Amino acid sequence: MQSWNKILHGSVLTGADPEGMLSAVRSMAQTLLCSEGHRGEAFGKCSCCRKIYKDIHPDVSFIRRGFQKDGKTLRSEIVVDQIRAVAKDSVVLPNEARAKIYVFPEADTLNASAQNALLKLLEEPPEGVYFLLCAKNPDALLPTVRSRCGIYHVGGEEEAESEEIASLCRDYLAALGDELALLRWEARAEKLDMAAMRELIPALSAAAAEALRGKALLSLEEQLRECAAMLRVNVNTRHLAAMLATYRNEE
Ligand SMILES: [Zn+2]
Repeated sequence: MQSWNKILHGSVLTGADPEGMLSAVRSMAQTLLCSEGHRGEAFGKCSCCRKIYKDIHPDVSFIRRGFQKDGKTLRSEIVVDQIRAVAKDSVVLPNEARAKIYVFPEADTLNASAQNALLKLLEEPPEGVYFLLCAKNPDALLPTVRSRCGIYHVGGEEEAESEEIASLCRDYLAALGDELALLRWEARAEKLDMAAMRELIPALSAAAAEALRGKALLSLEEQLRECAAMLRVNVNTRHLAAMLATYRNEE
């Protein structure tokens, strides 16, 4: 999973798994609406982030295919009137967050005139408005639409461990036994999102096994096992970063 540090007004998320794309959408939405924490609570734990997680945040709208006139049958496409409604709504200020987000869980069902209407919005997005387009088949999107958007591929095990994770591993091992260096390390690690933390803990175990020997390794491994157990119950990343940073080499 990427860290979403530079999200454009338009983003296309591609991938085979719709749920995977939606969870990436939620993580982007949390970054956009709440990257500095919310009312003093940890990122991901505040009411803003929790609403996003449950898909009930008033400033995150989901645009899906509507029903046909019979009121029962889903249309095969998202039509231009829906995008006109989005255009109207997008100039209204957010309800409670600092930005507004329109999510298209099946952007590849936008028909051509809907895409052209959306293109206008992407070309001149209202201030603080973001469009997140999920597409199993990104080729169904007009090249002009794609070229306006950041493209993210979601999922796929082939993704290599990020440079940031590798560098955190190296620096952690180098910092062991040095309280100040560990504190600096903690400040970096606590900015990770949960997905990155899930990469970091096993990566640290692997790096430690390679770099350390004997007793130090055993107690560090125990610490990392404890962290991995806490990951499974979704302890927040700040807490995990702090646990790792307080590890003391007993020798
Ligand atoms: Zn939050």
